[in-house]
Amino acid sequence: MPTPKGPPELKHLDHVLVSATAIKRRVAGLGTQINHDYTNKDLMVVAIVNGALIFAADLLRQLSSPLRLDCLRASSYHDGTKAVHEPRIVDQMKLDVRGQHVLLVDDILDTGKTLAAVAGLIKSKGALSVKTCVLLDKKARRAVPFEADYAGFEIPDEFVVGYGLDFNERYRNLPCIGVLKPKFYAGK
Ligand code: 5GP
Ligand code: MG
Repeated sequence: MPTPKGPPELKHLDHVLVSATAIKRRVAGLGTQINHDYTNKDLMVVAIVNGALIFAADLLRQLSSPLRLDCLRASSYHDGTKAVHEPRIVDQMKLDVRGQHVLLVDDILDTGKTLAAVAGLIKSKGALSVKTCVLLDKKARRAVPFEADYAGFEIPDEFVVGYGLDFNERYRNLPCIGVLKPKFYAGK
């Protein structure tokens, strides 16, 4: 039997916005930058799951410090591609951020509401510094003034999936970032 080429889910994509190769190269670049900026600093990474799961897993393996990792779960997307309420933190961190240099990692910076809320929360808990790293940045969509300290790719205002990003909890396992074919939105 012939071996299928690549994950079958690629057939759901209208087009690929960022290839797996481009992601790999950029994640390595972000790692170099972060290693440089945090030389001799004790780093705590906080990943916002589920979206940041795959990005954080790859990024962390580029970082040379014996960092600590925690995750928190924020939620605002319950209805396909639309945020239906303000971001809520639905699962808290386990580690104490007091006196720590915290790097927040998320998949995408969109309206900015999630990262603004989470960064504010972590500062209010006494972190020494809070920086943010996102793979994707949809600058055109910003609703609150917020910029990431590290951003992989600036992308247009399109709803994207893959590499951790979902549509109704599917497609997170795509190795690239892509835009779904309209027929897979229909009726959802
Ligand atoms: P923000 O609070 O910045 O509007 O949204 C951040 C969260 O919204 C992201 O962590 C992500 O979960 C979700 N989000 C924003 N834009 C997209 C998108 O294009 N595709 C997917 N799958 N999720 C998105
Ligand atoms: Mg998210």
